[in-house]
Amino acid sequence: MLDEMMKKVFPVEEERKAEGRCPFCGKQIDVENEFRDEISKREFGISGMCQSCQDDFFN
Ligand SMILES: [Zn+2]
Repeated sequence: MLDEMMKKVFPVEEERKAEGRCPFCGKQIDVENEFRDEISKREFGISGMCQSCQDDFFN
């Protein structure tokens, strides 16, 4: 239900996440190699952001 709502509110971002791409820059994410630590990996699980977008976002 919530997923359906998100698709309506953020259609492009949700589509990218579904394809394994960063919702912000559209980069294809290689989950095994992209992230420098477990914290970043966990954040990816929540937001779908790649490492460099997380760096931009949190710094
Ligand atoms: Zn990104």
